[in-house]
Amino acid sequence: MSTSSHSYPMSSGDDQHSYIYNSSYQKACIDGNEEKTRRYILEKFDLLNLNSDLKTLNIADFGCSIGPNTFHAVQYIIDGVKSTHENRLVPLEFQVFFNDQPNNDFNTLFRTQPPSSKGEYFSFGVPGSFHGRVLPRNSIHIGHTSYATHWLSEIPEHVCDKKSLAWNKYYIHCNNLIEDVTKAYKVQFTKDMRGFLEARAEEIVPEGLMIILGQCLPDGVPHFETWQGVVVDMIGDCLMDMAKLGVTSVEAIELFSIPVYFPQFSELEREIEQYGSFTLEMMEIISHPYEDIPLSNKFMTSMFRAIFYTIIKEHFGQGVVDELFDRLAKKLTKYPIDFKECKKHANYFMLLKRK
Ligand code: SAH
Repeated sequence: MSTSSHSYPMSSGDDQHSYIYNSSYQKACIDGNEEKTRRYILEKFDLLNLNSDLKTLNIADFGCSIGPNTFHAVQYIIDGVKSTHENRLVPLEFQVFFNDQPNNDFNTLFRTQPPSSKGEYFSFGVPGSFHGRVLPRNSIHIGHTSYATHWLSEIPEHVCDKKSLAWNKYYIHCNNLIEDVTKAYKVQFTKDMRGFLEARAEEIVPEGLMIILGQCLPDGVPHFETWQGVVVDMIGDCLMDMAKLGVTSVEAIELFSIPVYFPQFSELEREIEQYGSFTLEMMEIISHPYEDIPLSNKFMTSMFRAIFYTIIKEHFGQGVVDELFDRLAKKLTKYPIDFKECKKHANYFMLLKRK
């Protein structure tokens, strides 16, 4: 069991089946907003006009995982650039830098790259945490990240310390029920987002773009009121049931808190606006195609299993994972999520331009 090590969300190929579920939920949103992204790229990306002899355009995806969403995102960026610059005298070549943590399964990523990408761009794997620099200064023209920046670099200070006001008790994530816990998470998120933006400000060329997609909470909505928050609290309850049976322990649960923070929309907007190296060209809530469809218990179980597989395995041990998610499936059957009553996360699209 590890209590201090930092864990990352995606399994490295060891649980790819359920990754597909998780990835399809995010893909639906990326796809749904493809046209919009393309349009903004056309409107805001004048770097090529300023730089008519540029021959190589560098794109980076931060927190790319193992695919397939990253390939899709990269392709629509390339299509967007191509469609505005069809008549360029100097033909463009594209280089794509795929970034994720070193324990990401880059082999699967490159093995499953669509054959059509071969003639389209040159690929590079970039292992390392996006909270710091991972690429050379002034090297990237368009950066992209989706559904990754809510992952924190570590568990916020004191949330696993029983003597602290910011102790998260037996909750396993920031559900906004304890004010001091929310504050501790917010402090860590602000620090990490700064680290992310500072690093990107160095890597992205002046006039370059940074596209950020992700999930946040609508203003005034605490996490515990969203269906996603309810499911994670249920996972916590299943762990407690297992502790009672001796499969895991209460002590292990006390020392566990998932390093994920969903800021409220305005909180995120303020954070980004305060950061001086980029202009916030636009930020808006985008609709998710599955938004009004109640998800099946099977889908939710697989999705959360994929998201938390590695972190739960690292902290509680491999043996706990299967039983935990079997129990989650049963609990969801017994206490179905009321999608009409529950609030939901918001998906946002943000476009930044390097000053
Ligand atoms: N962008 C993909 C995958 C999102 S899952 C999509 O939209 O479908 C989140 C990914 O971010 C995971 O692969 C995880 O390993 C990665 N990630 C989380 N924290 C990271 C960090 N500090 N540095 C680099 N990658 C990180």
